[in-house]
Order: sequence, then structure tokens, then C-alpha cells
Amino acid sequence: MITKGNFILMEVGEFRSWLASQKVTRTITKLQVHHTWRPNYSTRGGQDHFACLEGMRRSHLANDWSGTGQNITVFEDGRIAISLDRNINSTPAGIKGANTGALCMEIIGNFDKGGDSMTGAQKQSVTHVYACLADKLNIPVDTSHIVYHAWYTASGLFLGDYVPGKSSKTCPGTNFWGNGNTRAAANKGFIPAIQQEMSRLNGEGEDEVMKEQLNKLAKRVAELEEASKRVPAPKWFVSEFGSSDLGGKISEPEFTQEGWRVLAVGLRVSK
Ligand SMILES: [Zn+2]
Repeated sequence: MITKGNFILMEVGEFRSWLASQKVTRTITKLQVHHTWRPNYSTRGGQDHFACLEGMRRSHLANDWSGTGQNITVFEDGRIAISLDRNINSTPAGIKGANTGALCMEIIGNFDKGGDSMTGAQKQSVTHVYACLADKLNIPVDTSHIVYHAWYTASGLFLGDYVPGKSSKTCPGTNFWGNGNTRAAANKGFIPAIQQEMSRLNGEGEDEVMKEQLNKLAKRVAELEEASKRVPAPKWFVSEFGSSDLGGKISEPEFTQEGWRVLAVGLRVSK
């Protein structure tokens, strides 16, 4: 995790614990989905991640926005950036007229038809980010709460679907996720991918806790079994009292380790 300028850049594996440490102070009920269109895979080239982020910030400031428009950015290599000038407790500038109560995620690339084809690493990171956010913020994973920019008009009216001519933009792209930017497309590929990641996250956690508890229990049972095992007289008993059956006074002398100790204490007292 690297903090530089106005951003934190992290690996996908660092996101969940980072998010867990965040205190959310506003009500967030919607997760927006955007592509950057520009920058995209072609313009990125070997450009430094921070240079790219600061470039987006500068162009957003030039719109007279108070800072970077998005709260979170997902790069083509799967790395995730957090905007410090638009932290998760700040209302984003993602969809004009529909930003209150929303969190804005920008996915680097141009996912219109004929544009970029999303890398596996970016897909994985994107599903992870949305699943972690939905989990943390208790947001249902459906198309009423995880919304494409294209489902809104230019004034922020929710159309509920991509409607060419009425939608303000094609964002996150007419070939987003390989399915397109309609509500049906989201229900086909993107939403199920997030749901799958969400159950992986939750299932994994439960499995680990369960495994740990079971192992503790098994260890305790083994200890109890060991302690209750009857054994022949220990060497110390034989050397102290001359024999294990006290010269034939007790038949079949087999006790637990604790039993032999109790017997020895009794014998010493009666001596
Ligand atoms: Zn957008």
C-alpha cells in the first residue's frame, strides 16, 4: 500500500482489510459503475499509476469539481486506488443529480464496443471491490443498488436501463463485462460475478472460524482421552513401593496416571 499525493494505491489483497478499518459516517445505498473511457488501455501504456490518477484529478478540478470525481479507481492490472480528496465519506461527482448516498467507482478502460477487453486481473479486482463494499455497507447485490451510469439521464433521472437517446452516456460501455450496459446485461454477467465473490468471501470466513473451533475441540478431547487412559504402574511407583500390585494386595492394577498418584499419596500417609 502506497500513499502519494492525493491517492492511496493498493493491491487487491489489501482492499478488504483497508475497508474494514474505515469508519463510514454517511449513509451509502448505491454503488455506481463507471468506465473512465479516457484514460484507457491504449493511453495508459507504461504510465505511472499516480501520474494517471493525478491527471484525472487535474481534469476533474478543471470542471470546477472540488476534487477527483470518483471515490475509488480500479486499474487494468487489478490495483486499486482510493481518492484522498474524495474519501468514501464524501459524496462523489459520478452521476450528475444522483450522487447523494452513492459511492463512485471508476474502472480504467474504454469498454464501449471496439474498445478495450477487460483483463482477468481487473475483472477479479472489480468484483472483489463491489463485493467487499456491498458486504461492509449492507448493500443488496442487485441492479437497484449497483447501478450503471448509463441508466440515468443527463439530469440524473433514473431510467432503470440504458435507453439510447435518453441515457446521458454509454458508461460503463456498450460491451462492458462482455455483455453490454443494459440492465439485462448486468443481471447476466456482472451482478452474478459479484454475488459469487460475496459468497466466496463469506463462506471462506465461516470455514476458517469453524475449522479453528473444531481443531481446538479435537485437541481438548484428545487431552481428556489421554488423561483418562488406564496404564500399568509407572516406574516411579514400582521403585517406591516395590511392586505394581503391592505384593499381590490388589488384583489387575491399572489406573490412570492421576489414579496412580492418588494411590501413592494414600500409601505414603498410611505408612
Ligand atoms: Zn460514468
